[in-house]
Amino acid sequence: MSSNATILDGKLLARLLETDLKQRVEKDAAQYGRKPGLAVILVGNNPASQYYVRTKEKVAKRAGLKSFDTRLPEDASFEQVAEAIKSYNQNPEVDGILLQLPVPRHLNSDKLLDLIDPAKDADGLHPHNQGLLMTGKKGVRPCTPLGTVKLLDLALSGVDISQKGVEVSKIPEADLSGKSAVVVGRSILVGKPVSLLLLDRNATVTLAHSRTDDLAAVCKKADIVVAAVGVPGLVKGDWIKPGAIVLDVGINRLPDGSLTGDVEFDEAAKRAAAITPVPGGVGPMTVMMLIYNTYLNYNNAMGKS
Ligand code: NDP
Repeated sequence: MSSNATILDGKLLARLLETDLKQRVEKDAAQYGRKPGLAVILVGNNPASQYYVRTKEKVAKRAGLKSFDTRLPEDASFEQVAEAIKSYNQNPEVDGILLQLPVPRHLNSDKLLDLIDPAKDADGLHPHNQGLLMTGKKGVRPCTPLGTVKLLDLALSGVDISQKGVEVSKIPEADLSGKSAVVVGRSILVGKPVSLLLLDRNATVTLAHSRTDDLAAVCKKADIVVAAVGVPGLVKGDWIKPGAIVLDVGINRLPDGSLTGDVEFDEAAKRAAAITPVPGGVGPMTVMMLIYNTYLNYNNAMGKS
């Protein structure tokens, strides 16, 4: 069986959304006299975190945002990190605050995240914003789940983003009435919020996890499979129903240094209608959604929405 699946290019979609946002930011900055501001707080020397922060700051700059940056040493105290958060809470030029996770083990990340003003939450992880998601009210949504659902919207829109002049801001939010979705993984960061976003769009959602019996049978029934586990190739290609949409959130580093997802890509692509690659699928969309959330907060601060 050869692959006919549409490859959902998250890198390209993120780039196109970035270009669209940049134009809006330029217009708004001229009108309101300031750009949206994103503040990033990085504690310690974790190389992966340093890489993610550099990437986020690069994208923010390209989209025309103003960047604020705080780097604290590995042994920074809770009070030092709290102080950085509080000062950004009070800074009127800052619309989004990102505390890069994980923080060193001696720091309580939940307590630190709670200190972020919910109106300046860029990650969508503040309990207030998680509550808005739970109750189906307007608010910033967690970045990875939001980026995942935007890739699903792309898949169902039939829009070919490789065409010149395509208007990505007009890709409609998909209505998933009558569709069944399986989310594998129930973390607060990815699995639970993705399932709520899908439910919000009227999908019939099954939230699977490590205690789920016969995961293969559960996946085989699904029109949409979201894998957010952290186990390379856990979701087998032959678990994918022909014509299903597969969104692979997993990022796993193999011993040879390469990255792979939670889904057996080659085999799944032979059956799926559309599938995200790893890397280059959900990852770049996550970064873009951080910038997008900061822009939403800016709009709210300006009384625009
Ligand atoms: P967590 O470790 O917090 O959660 C993993 C989930 O997978 C848990 O709910 C766990 O179940 C479930 N699980 C583990 N083993 C199995 C199994 N054998 N069968 C079924 N379910 C299983 O991970 P995260 O949600 O934070 O991340 C998941 C993946 O997504 C990782 O690879 C991570 O790197 C990636 N990621 C990617 C991002 C991106 O931008 N693309 C952003 C964030 C994460 P249980 O609850 O029962 O233990």
